[in-house]
Amino acid sequence: MEKELICVNCPMGCRLTAVIEDNKVVSVTGNRCPRGKAYAETECIRPERILTTTVRITGGIHRVLPVISEQALPLDRIMEAMEVLRTVQVQAPVTVGDIIAADILGTGINIVASRSMDAC
Ligand code: SF4
Repeated sequence: MEKELICVNCPMGCRLTAVIEDNKVVSVTGNRCPRGKAYAETECIRPERILTTTVRITGGIHRVLPVISEQALPLDRIMEAMEVLRTVQVQAPVTVGDIIAADILGTGINIVASRSMDAC
């Protein structure tokens, strides 16, 4: 089976063709650098995404705090992670990079504040 992809790792946006056999990527063409091959292999077999969302915050200058995963999470676990984060409430002040949810879903990946927020 062949799968067409566009590499999103840099503005070049190379058009990739991955050949998949027995749930393995056996060849990638169209990439101008090794990152494209790695991207195609991950995207075809176990896609991942950086999670960005917000959590509730009390005592801050806004009602919600933007957060981000420190690394990409498996795409098929993003909704589950969002459900967990819907239950999280933090207290201001918060500094960018503070861990908001450690080891989300046992993935070893932390969700951290993507901005600082002062108390009001
Ligand atoms: S394959 Fe390399 S050069 Fe092409 S878009 Fe991906 S990172 Fe950029």
